[in-house]
Amino acid sequence: MTEYTLEKRYQIFLKFFQRELDKMFKNQAEFIKCKEGCSYCCEKGEYPFSELEFKFLLEGYKKLDSDTKAKILFNIAKVNEKMANHKTGRFMYDCPFLIEHRCSVYENRGIICRTFGLLCEHADGKLTMPFCHEYGLNYSAVYNKEKGQIITTDKDGNKLCETEPKAFRIQRPHVMNLTVAKDLDIDWGESKTLIDFLNESNIADL
Ligand code: SF4
Ligand code: SF4
Repeated sequence: MTEYTLEKRYQIFLKFFQRELDKMFKNQAEFIKCKEGCSYCCEKGEYPFSELEFKFLLEGYKKLDSDTKAKILFNIAKVNEKMANHKTGRFMYDCPFLIEHRCSVYENRGIICRTFGLLCEHADGKLTMPFCHEYGLNYSAVYNKEKGQIITTDKDGNKLCETEPKAFRIQRPHVMNLTVAKDLDIDWGESKTLIDFLNESNIADL
């Protein structure tokens, strides 16, 4: 495998990982409300990326038409303006690649982007709900906000769902350490937020 370039090996990894994710989404279809044009998951985040993911994302950017590129550059400037006025806590922002509620670099999106919407299980067994449950979207039918629990039957014992809600180990550090990533000798490089990578890049010249 190492006879392939790192970019090629990453694409092989992505194919594998995307296939696994597709199975997860299919298995949990009853709770998944994702559809084209729904973009809350790209409207408030830090978007951690590795250097490798970021380079691949830029490859997608390079293929865009000049109007779309200009919109993305404008979005980056808006995020930076907002960041300059940000006082405390984690800085959350709209992803600059989101154009008219659609990802402009969908085929080249990062790992975190691909996992949006699934129920996540951490190493300590704790679960993280996809945040859009707050908008009545993914898993909202089985999540009790007051109790902070997934509940699959109502007070009369009636089933609230046909499928068992299942959480997956999809956090980036875990995914980046999957055996397949090691077998492919994937060198991820440094990780940073997307906006930090963008600000250090030469995106305006691409
Ligand atoms: S993860 Fe949530 S916000 Fe994102 S597309 Fe799916 S339903 Fe919409
Ligand atoms: S790269 Fe695309 S999928 Fe990922 S956060 Fe940005 S708009 Fe959303």
